[in-house]
Amino acid sequence: MAKSAEVKLAVFGRAGVGKSALVVRFLTKRFIWEYDPTLESTYRHQAVIDDETVSMEILDTAGQEDVLQKEAHMRWGDGFIIVYDITDRGSFEDVAPLKGLLDEVKRPKHVPLVLLGNKADLDLGRQVATEEGERLAADMACAFYECSACADRVGSGGGVAEAFHELLREIRRRRAVQ
Ligand code: GDP
Ligand code: MG
Repeated sequence: MAKSAEVKLAVFGRAGVGKSALVVRFLTKRFIWEYDPTLESTYRHQAVIDDETVSMEILDTAGQEDVLQKEAHMRWGDGFIIVYDITDRGSFEDVAPLKGLLDEVKRPKHVPLVLLGNKADLDLGRQVATEEGERLAADMACAFYECSACADRVGSGGGVAEAFHELLREIRRRRAVQ
């Protein structure tokens, strides 16, 4: 990836899974409790990954878009994070249809993707086993992390930043072979 490379990341997942909290955590290393659930925001950010500076735009979707809006966001993005909430089974069931739409929009290109099971700090309310997340990610041929937007080291060893960095690396690997 050239020094000036600009990548576009989009975060998908049902409203309430913690997309905004995760993006804000990645950008500021802080947790913000309340975020307007209907808000869609774009952020600019730079990170150094393996000694290379990457400039990125991050689209934090609201999660309530209709299919046409979703498709437009998917066409825009180079890489994607699909988030579910480990305490909300329905949000996990939303993942496969989102991935299906993503494949349709991006076909025949491979889609750099990371699956994130958020709210891993709420283990008592868990409705989705870690193994189910792992299995789904294996089916989708993407990386998987459980994490928490409010506690950076909860889950399968993965912090929030680690998930974003893995996505950026995957985009870079794909660009290298194209
Ligand atoms: P979005 O609709 O996907 O953007 O979700 P938000 O980021 O607005 O978060 C929805 C709610 O879940 C808010 O009340 C957050 O404070 C809360 N939340 C987000 N991430 C976590 C997390 O990792 N752990 C816990 N306990 N709560 C979270
Ligand atoms: Mg939000």
